[in-house]
Amino acid sequence: MIRIASLLWLMMVLLPGCLVPDHRTEDPPQRWAIAIHGGAGALSKGAPEEEQRAYRESLQSALTIGAGILQNGGEGLDAVEQVIRFLEDDPLFNAGLGAVFNSQGKHELDASIMDGSDLSCGAVAGVRTVRHPITLARKVMTDTRHVLFAGEGAETFASQCGVELVENSFFSTNRRREQWTQRRKPKKGTVGVAVLDRQGHLAAGTSTGGMTDKRWGRVGDSPIIGAGTYADDRACAVSCTGTGEEYIRHAVAHSVAARMMLAGQDLQSACDAMIHEVLQPDDGGLIAVDAAGNIAFSYSTQGMYRAAADSSGRFEVGIHEQMMGDPGD
Ligand code: ASP
Repeated sequence: MIRIASLLWLMMVLLPGCLVPDHRTEDPPQRWAIAIHGGAGALSKGAPEEEQRAYRESLQSALTIGAGILQNGGEGLDAVEQVIRFLEDDPLFNAGLGAVFNSQGKHELDASIMDGSDLSCGAVAGVRTVRHPITLARKVMTDTRHVLFAGEGAETFASQCGVELVENSFFSTNRRREQWTQRRKPKKGTVGVAVLDRQGHLAAGTSTGGMTDKRWGRVGDSPIIGAGTYADDRACAVSCTGTGEEYIRHAVAHSVAARMMLAGQDLQSACDAMIHEVLQPDDGGLIAVDAAGNIAFSYSTQGMYRAAADSSGRFEVGIHEQMMGDPGD
């Protein structure tokens, strides 16, 4: 009797397991999406065509890197880091090489990265010798129990974890020096990435030299999780660019996610509400990707360097209203 009972019990436990497919071994969702920005302080519409083309070509290369990683089933965080590293090395953008000058004629760089699958995140502020601040931000996320390192402590951490270090003058370009000495006008030009990977995870990252002629020690929104960067698998991944102080005041990146989760807004409506209703005209813009693979851009400046690709075959870059499939158009 006991034997029959235990046999029956065993069958009850094991049989459903054999009949019901094991979802853990199923293929991951196939959809992926990536959005990139290169700052909201874009060239005017009348700027020489070669200048505009240079930006479009660089954005297209960045998009090719990110789309390649995601298409091959790579991790969203890798796409974010690799695309931002590429843009940090491109002197056209205000991140890494080509970062703006602060009031002392130096460069202080900020970056952050966030993993939407578990809300882990890392950030660095005011670093002066780290060639790729986004990589250091990722190390803060993965190698420490903290979220944000600033100034000297961030530099010491950088030297301990083996990221590439350079002289501060490495970041200087003549173009940025001219902007600083001649006009001293605030210039926006941060870079950022938001992605959905094929495992269904969202991630975002942002990297910047900040605002031209900023007071030394000033930290903007880019390394502040919830202000310049946010990612949560339940809603969206967001990266912002613009007047950092406003983005911090209004917790812009997190607010986009909160609007989706708490008010049921769709991605584009949540982004537009933050840019056009909460912030002031000309404050800047943002990019976002949601858990379904939708991509949203929103900005109140005359343009925003941006790019988008996804698993449906979309692949386009833009500066002003129009997006283009081929940057040579
Ligand atoms: N948000 C950046 C900052 O305030 C600047 C920018 O996006 O261009 O540091």
